[in-house]
Amino acid sequence: MKAKYIYAFGGGKADGNESMKNLLGGKGANLAEMAGHRDLRLPVPPGFTITTEVCTYYYEHKKSYPAGLKKDVERALQTVERLMGRKFGDPVNPLLVSVRSGARKSMPGMMETILNVGLTEKTIPGLVEQSGGNSRFVYDAYRRLIMMYSDVVMEKAAGIEPKDDNSGIRRQLERIMDRVKKAKGYTSDTDLTAEDLRQLSSEFKMKVREILGQEFPDDPLQQLWGGIGAVFSSWNGKRAVSYRRIEGIPDEWGTAVNVQSMVFGNMGSDSATGVAFTRNPGNGDNRFYGEYLIDAQGEDVVAGIRTPAPINEYSKSEHNKELVTLEKAMPKIYKELFQIQRRLEKHYRDMQDIEFTIEKGRLFMLQCRVGKRNGPAAVRIAVDMLAEKLIDKRTAVMRVTPSQLDELLHPIIDPAVEKEQEPLAKGLPAGPGGAAGQIVFSAHDAVEWAKQGKKVILVREETNPEDVEGMRAAQAILTARGGMTSHAALVARGWGKCCIVGCSGIHVDYSSKILSADGVSLNEGSWITLNGTRGNVYKGQLPMMDASSENKVLMDFLKVCDSVKRLGIRTNADTPEDAKRGRQFGAQGIGLFRTEHMFYGKGSEEPLFRLRKMIISRTAEERRRALDELYPYVKKDVKGTLEAMDGYPVVVRLLDPPLHEFVPRDEGKLRDLANDLHITMEELASRAENLHESNPMMGHRGVRLGITYPEVSEMQIRAVFDAAAELLKEGKHPYPEIMIPVVGHVNELKDQFEIARRVYREVLAQHGLKSMKHMVGTMIEIPRAAIVSDKIAEMAEFFSFGTNDLTQMGFGFSRDDIGSFLPDYLEKRILPDDPFQTIDQEGIGELMKISIERGRKARPGLEIGICGEHGGDPRSVDFCHRLGMDYVSCSPFRVPIARLAAAQAATAAEKKGSGRRK
Ligand code: PEP
Ligand code: MG
Repeated sequence: MKAKYIYAFGGGKADGNESMKNLLGGKGANLAEMAGHRDLRLPVPPGFTITTEVCTYYYEHKKSYPAGLKKDVERALQTVERLMGRKFGDPVNPLLVSVRSGARKSMPGMMETILNVGLTEKTIPGLVEQSGGNSRFVYDAYRRLIMMYSDVVMEKAAGIEPKDDNSGIRRQLERIMDRVKKAKGYTSDTDLTAEDLRQLSSEFKMKVREILGQEFPDDPLQQLWGGIGAVFSSWNGKRAVSYRRIEGIPDEWGTAVNVQSMVFGNMGSDSATGVAFTRNPGNGDNRFYGEYLIDAQGEDVVAGIRTPAPINEYSKSEHNKELVTLEKAMPKIYKELFQIQRRLEKHYRDMQDIEFTIEKGRLFMLQCRVGKRNGPAAVRIAVDMLAEKLIDKRTAVMRVTPSQLDELLHPIIDPAVEKEQEPLAKGLPAGPGGAAGQIVFSAHDAVEWAKQGKKVILVREETNPEDVEGMRAAQAILTARGGMTSHAALVARGWGKCCIVGCSGIHVDYSSKILSADGVSLNEGSWITLNGTRGNVYKGQLPMMDASSENKVLMDFLKVCDSVKRLGIRTNADTPEDAKRGRQFGAQGIGLFRTEHMFYGKGSEEPLFRLRKMIISRTAEERRRALDELYPYVKKDVKGTLEAMDGYPVVVRLLDPPLHEFVPRDEGKLRDLANDLHITMEELASRAENLHESNPMMGHRGVRLGITYPEVSEMQIRAVFDAAAELLKEGKHPYPEIMIPVVGHVNELKDQFEIARRVYREVLAQHGLKSMKHMVGTMIEIPRAAIVSDKIAEMAEFFSFGTNDLTQMGFGFSRDDIGSFLPDYLEKRILPDDPFQTIDQEGIGELMKISIERGRKARPGLEIGICGEHGGDPRSVDFCHRLGMDYVSCSPFRVPIARLAAAQAATAAEKKGSGRRK
């Protein structure tokens, strides 16, 4: 049987439905659902979708169509004609259509659209008739068609590259129009009369002939096929390709083409067009939210040329509060639209982004799709919809991506400082959070400056799809024009980036690279700060802060995650403060306390001095003295951390790094050390020299230190047990897990275990205790240890994967030096990802799998976690879930992300499981 290339919709019926996104694209599938599903049957202008398979065919067959497609299109067009009671190309009662792209995943503004197809010299009078004699409207539609068609079909799709930005056909036509407006003293497009537009259309056609060497086609079918071809071609247009790279959309997907009968929002004051969301995409409020324009076509709303009006009181902003709402202007239509959007949301059980047009008092639904939202809105909507019983817990956790959650954890401008500031200008809050950066005026500069490590804010009059890479590179985006549904707003919202649009108080001068606002002029490179949640622009660089732990909706959402996840979530914390923060973020213990961190940074001077003494010691006697001095510092830090995590396990790792890292370089410090040890500077230099290693990462570190200097391990172990014993006596519930790093052979562990057992007995006796809850275990971070995990597990009471070192030693890539060659590896696709960021599941992951299997075979119920950086990476968390680990551990700020990732991993695994059972 011949493949079905065309799926019709309209008249309460549809060939396709929502589940057919791969074949019909998102837009086509949703149009079919809206038009044909028995619960909806909405007023959708009839049309048909040409499938993505045709796009694939088109590219595989030198841009030609499968046999029979022409006939199928004609037949489908006849059905549309019948439903509309109009005929394509008919001089008396003409049907016009739009031709639009629609990929599986929405790619806003990245591909082409052509409206008013079918309008020719012959059909113009018929359309004038249909519109009740509104020849202004008709010629306006005609000049739009010529502009769009010559640009999209005759220039772009034909592969004609204009010399520069200004010589493209669209620009040239726009200049003609500007000239006419100027000559006539008009300020707005709407001032142009029917006669002006008629003359403009003729001029446009002449210009098209002159520049492109071809006539603008006056044949409706030629227009239609030109449009279809241009949409397919735009799949491989520059913008679409670069957007796909950023979003990871495969090239093979292709786009569908939607041909749909035109309805007009620009037929006069009883016509309008708009874009709305079933809930506020900026903050998640369960309120109908949107914008519309009277007497306008859809592109006018998105293009940001006129400021759209709010659909209702709720949608009012600083910017549009003077304009009349749709609710007031057309109350009946508003009511109908309101009910439709409620039905749509109930049907899809998710927030919808809808496009509508009102033609002469009649409402049409042009599009609906799952609405893009920022992080705060995503979390709020998930929590609310769960409470409203629209969705279940598992759906709720899948509704928020880790990067959306990350947005909520992102900084905001310190409110105390912000309160004192006067904004330089105000715009629409299109993307949340705060950001400070240096002004750049072009996407190109944004990319270049960001490459140099600078933080930039991209400031534009308005953005267009060519700017996406610059928008990506910038900390934030600020535009002078455009509404909440403008290009910049849509893209920023999708990425969760701080963004302000429609900031009409700023003036952008590209040629002199100056932003002026409120009497202030700022050059390129000047700092500004944006509050994307409120739409405020400030001069200078304001301080940022984190506000996530005060966010109740976030906390509620994370609780839902916790009720779904199986993995435990711990945090890597090296100080009592970090431990407290980890607890606030919901960590259920510490997966890695790096003892050595007490020797870095603030307050480290004294313990560091003692550590250095210990390192430089020659005899066991000297060393023991230094260790005795060091002991109280270690105990204090461990005790504080155990206390902050009361009742939860705390993995304390014994000293890991190569000792020479701690030898001072500073002359004065060296002298203090020599004096304290009563040795000469020469003697000190020679001892330090002895510590030098050619390859310290594989040198005298981790357990090897404890083997050579048992007293070093002993001091640390004693500090941990003493801290726990003291806390026990204070009525607390300490639970230390002592972890021995860099182990490759079970005999290394045996050696250290003897010390641990002896010290444990001694501490019990000393404190008069019978027992203390604790474990002694090891890191699995050396490939050999992974392989012999059965033997290791005979000693170790728990495992924790040190995937930083396991990756380093498994790949043979130095953790510290990979930066010099990784970019080439990624660029050439030798590796899909940085293996230090996301676990290499095939290789390093396999070592982990072997280790878990062998470890648990030798010791059933062995506690297994991960404490490498991967513990906060969502894909790695999913992998750890599938491996059956007990917990993941990551930095305090990543804990919420890990909670979500763990919940999503559990949900995904459940879905897969039930799929198999069926
Ligand atoms: C690891 O190797 O994964 C680890 C957590 O230890 P470190 O990063 O301290 O070497
Ligand atoms: Mg390590």
